[in-house]
Amino acid sequence: MKGEAAGKAAASSSSSSPSRYESQKRRDWNTFLQYLKNHKPPLTLSRCSGAHVIEFLKYLDQFGKTKVHVAACPFFGVPNPPAQCTCPLRQAWGSLDSLIGRLRAAFEEIGGGVPESNPLAAKAVRIYLKEVRETQAKARGIPHGKKNGNGLIQQPRKLKTPMMEKVPEEVVVLL
Ligand SMILES: [Zn+2]
Repeated sequence: MKGEAAGKAAASSSSSSPSRYESQKRRDWNTFLQYLKNHKPPLTLSRCSGAHVIEFLKYLDQFGKTKVHVAACPFFGVPNPPAQCTCPLRQAWGSLDSLIGRLRAAFEEIGGGVPESNPLAAKAVRIYLKEVRETQAKARGIPHGKKNGNGLIQQPRKLKTPMMEKVPEEVVVLL
């Protein structure tokens, strides 16, 4: 398993056009393998732990496009900030969560791993994702349970009852 996995596979081979999910999964898997290979010291799948997976997720933050306000920022907790600030960009929780879902499947389907040793399913990873979710929810002023919608929260067309504003805190987003 030298170089073949990483390079060209993802880009050009869409002859039978597998579902977008499938091709995205392969691309993610290749990215992950590439990350392990470039890791210092290099990692193999069998040595990869949940902690390494978390490292990988943090590494991805540098490519993120989601503004996550720090607690000291005046826009912390403000859903639609009126101006720019210098808070860092991160990967949105939802992206990380679905990425992990795809990688978790790829570990078994493509990597041939067994579920019991799947580092992507490690408890530490789940806890990390939960923390990210909570941090981002707080930073952006969006309550936890509110998961649906595409971020277009501007104008609720018909608010039948004012009750609707109350989103119960204990609504749990399924991981
Ligand atoms: Zn900010």
